[in-house]
Amino acid sequence: MAVTTEDLVKKAKECGYDKCGIIPVEQMAGYADSLDEREERLPETKEFYDKFRPFADPRAQYPWVESIIVCSFRYGRYDIPGGLDKHYAKAYLTDGRRNAASGCWKAGGRFDEYLEERGVRCASSRDFGLTALRWAAMKAGIGIIRKNNFFYTERGSWNHLEAFLIGEPLEYIETCAVRPCPDGCSLCVKACPTGALCAPYTMNPAACASALTTWSGWDLTTEPLRAKMGRWAYGCDVCQDVCPFNRGAWSGGEEFPGLSELAKHLPLTEIVEADYDTLKNIVQPAFWYIPADKVWRYKTNALNVMLNDYSPEYLPAIKKACSDEAEQVRKMAAWVLTKLKKREAGGTEAE
Ligand code: SF4
Ligand code: SF4
Repeated sequence: MAVTTEDLVKKAKECGYDKCGIIPVEQMAGYADSLDEREERLPETKEFYDKFRPFADPRAQYPWVESIIVCSFRYGRYDIPGGLDKHYAKAYLTDGRRNAASGCWKAGGRFDEYLEERGVRCASSRDFGLTALRWAAMKAGIGIIRKNNFFYTERGSWNHLEAFLIGEPLEYIETCAVRPCPDGCSLCVKACPTGALCAPYTMNPAACASALTTWSGWDLTTEPLRAKMGRWAYGCDVCQDVCPFNRGAWSGGEEFPGLSELAKHLPLTEIVEADYDTLKNIVQPAFWYIPADKVWRYKTNALNVMLNDYSPEYLPAIKKACSDEAEQVRKMAAWVLTKLKKREAGGTEAE
C-alpha cells in the first residue's frame, strides 16, 4: 500500500520521535568522502573507520532500498539521579536501545509496526543502525554534526538517532535551524581529557575515554591514558558538556524506566563490591558495550576512578577487591594499592 512522506513523518512523531526526515539512499554515498577526510587527517584511524564503509552503500546488503527515514529521540528529557553523570555518560544511563520499557524503544517498535501494516518494506536495527546515522540525519535536515563530532538538533546533542531503510522512493527534508559552531570556538578540543579530540572534527577513537571504558582499554594497568580518563567509569561526556550549544539543553523532568533501580548499584564502591549475578543481570543489560562474559570490567573501571579521584572511603573496597573472584580485578586492585602506597610515600606516579 502506498504511503506519502507526510503520512510517514506525521506517524513517526505520533510514535514518539521528535524530528523525522527522509533521504534518497544515494545520498549516503557522500559518507565515504567524509571517511576519506577523517582518515587523511588521522591516518592511524584508518583501520577503525574502514569498518564503517559499508554504511555508505546500504544497497550492497539491501538492494531493494530506495530511501532512508531518519528519526531523532531526545534523551535529554530524563532525570539523572544523584550525580551519576560524573562517572557515567548520560547516553548510556538513558540508553533505550535494549530497554523495552523506554520511550525510544517504544517509538521504534510502533513505527516498525506501522510500516509493516502499510506494506512498506523496511529494515532497521536498534543497536547500532544499518547506516551512518549522524550523516543520514544531517542530510535529512534533522541537525548538524559539530566540531566535537556529535550530532546536534536545535535542542543540543542529547539525541538518539534511528534509521529505517525502506523500499519506497521518498524524500522529506526537515527544517534545520541549528547554527554552526563559531569559527573561533574550540572549547571541546581543549577540554578533551585524553587528547582524543585533537582538532575540530578529528577524533582518535583509540584514545577516547568513552572507548577506553567500554570496548577497548581492557588492561588499565598498562593503558597509557588511564590517568587522563579521570572520573569516567563508563563513557565520557566532557566534549559535549563544555559545548555552549548544550547549555540548558538537558531539561530532565521525566523518569527513565529502570534508572532509579540501576542507580542503586552504580556508586563506585557498590560496583567494586558487587556480586557477579548483580553485574550480569542488572548492570550489563544497561551498559551492554561490555559483554556479559567480561563484567569484571565494570570493577576495574571503577577501581581506576578510585585511584584517579581517591578518597579514603574507597580503601576498604579496594582492599576487598584484592580477593575478588576475577583475576583481572584482583590484579587491578593490588596494582591500585601499590600506586596509593607510592603516592602516600611521596613517590612519583610514572605510568
Ligand atoms: S568523549 Fe571524552 S575522551 Fe572522547 S573525545 Fe569527547 S572529551 Fe575526548
Ligand atoms: S564546544 Fe564549540 S567548537 Fe566544540 S562543538 Fe561546541 S560550539 Fe562547536
